[in-house]
Formats: sequence, structure tokens, C-alpha cells
Amino acid sequence: MDDLRSVLLRHGFSFKKQFGQNFLTDTNLLKAIVADAGVDENTTALEIGTGAGALTRALAERAKRVISFEIDRTLQPVLAETLSGCDNAEVRFQDFAKCDLTALERELGEYAVVANLPYYVTTPILMRFVEEGKKCRSLTIMVQEEVARRFCAVEGTEDYGAVTAALARRGSCRITRTVPRTLFTPRPNVDSAVVHVDFTAGGFEVLNEKAFRETVRAAFLSRRKTLENNLIAVFRLSREEAKQILAEVGVQEGARGETLSPVRLGALSDLLFAKGIIK
Ligand code: SAM
Repeated sequence: MDDLRSVLLRHGFSFKKQFGQNFLTDTNLLKAIVADAGVDENTTALEIGTGAGALTRALAERAKRVISFEIDRTLQPVLAETLSGCDNAEVRFQDFAKCDLTALERELGEYAVVANLPYYVTTPILMRFVEEGKKCRSLTIMVQEEVARRFCAVEGTEDYGAVTAALARRGSCRITRTVPRTLFTPRPNVDSAVVHVDFTAGGFEVLNEKAFRETVRAAFLSRRKTLENNLIAVFRLSREEAKQILAEVGVQEGARGETLSPVRLGALSDLLFAKGIIK
């Protein structure tokens, strides 16, 4: 097959910045991402953002089945060429944000998400799997390096935030590799990293998921304020109530939300739920 760039050129394809189109071509890197994802002949892989199909092809060589979503229909003739012979790969030309995840999960059974995500929708796409994904075993996603650091941050650091806590509740999260901007076409302004989130390891249960989400939102509402003041503001508690609740989960006076580990935030959310403060 021709070099990917010449295939795109031959089809008169023009890159669309608004869709976050920065494609990968390095075969070794593509194979490494597939390996990071732990894809094997039993895996159904779900890709978001087919692009010119380079990662799709690398996945199809290892996986049982690949379903890939692509918003840009002008890639159709390119993909007909680059994915020819990949009989276990299927491209759906659809905005992934509009896809019914429950119906898709019913169709796919257990699956692994592997994607070089369009940067402008990284967090909403990720949060869909974290909050709604019932059959998702793992996420292996290329994101901006600074975003990757936020996903995997530890409490008490500047990078730690609501997304970190939400991810940690579902599984274990680690950066598997950093990827220089020079490996993308066209070249973006930032470097990237691959993050692997394993939904089958780590993670923890909470009494109520909505309560956890609301607690996390409250904890990070204003990073300059103490957790006590954020709880008072969000849940309309008296100061005494807030002090007692925080003492019950072992939080020191004057602590800020970002100093609580995800597990401690889970304990706080369970208490707020059990006391009927969050319904
Ligand atoms: N997977 C390819 C690769 O690694 O070379 C392309 C990655 S590129 C960063 C992201 C791709 O996602 C683009 O092809 C873009 O058109 C597509 N895309 C953007 N928004 C999307 C959406 N909401 N649903 C499906 N695909 C989308």
C-alpha cells in the first residue's frame, strides 16, 4: 500500500482542524498502542475517530473484531482503500456523541476502547465510558500529555481534579508512553501521551454514583476554599453539620477538597448519601 500521506493526497483529502484530525503513521507506535491495550484474538475493540485507518488496521491485525466511529464522511474513499482486506473491521460514519451507548453495548458485549481521541472532545467521550459504560473493560487513549497527567494525578497535586477522582473510582489509570508531536500528521502544537485505564482492576464501590459525582463536584467547586466551606455552599449545611461530617470521615479541619484521595471522597459521598443530604 502507498504511504498514508500519498493516499490522502491522491483522494484530495484536506485535514479538518475542527475535527481534531492529527493522524498517526508510525507503524511501531501503532503496534505499541495495541500492545498497551492488551488486545488479543478474543478482544472486541471500539475505536473513536478512524481517521485514515492506521490504528484501525493495527487493531484489526490483533483483535477479533473492530468497530470504529468516524464523523467525517469525506474519509470514506480513503478508508475503502486503507482498510481493504480488514474483514473484521467495520467503520460507522457517525458522530460518536450521538451513538446510543446502551444499544452499542448490547450489540458488542465486552469491549476495549482504543483511540487516538480528537482533542476537542476528549473529556466528554472519556466521561461517557466512566459514567455509562457497563461492558467496557479498558480505555487506551491518546490524549494531550498535560491532560494525561491530570487523569493519573495523585491527591494534593495541582493536576489532581474531578476527572482524576471519577477515573480512579472505575479503575486503575497509568500513562503507558509519551508521544512527541512530530509523530502526527499534521503536527499539533503539543506532545501527547497514551493513558491506559483498566476497569477490571483497582476502582471502588460507592453507595450511589450520583452522590459520588455531586460530592466530587462540590469538593472541587472552588479550589481556593476549604472543603468545609464548599460543602456548606453546595449542600446548604450548617457549619456544625459540615464539621461533624468531615470529622466522621477523618478529614482535618481546614482541608481543601483536592487533598482527599478518591477513596476518601467516596467515603464522604457515602456519608452524605446515608444521611439523606444527597438524595
Ligand atoms: N485514529 C486515527 C489515527 O490515529 O491516525 C485518527 C485520529 S484523529 C486524532 C481523530 C479522528 O476523530 C479524526 O479522524 C476525526 O475526524 C474523528 N472525530 C472527531 N470527532 C468525532 C466524533 N464526535 N465522532 C467520531 N469521530 C470523530
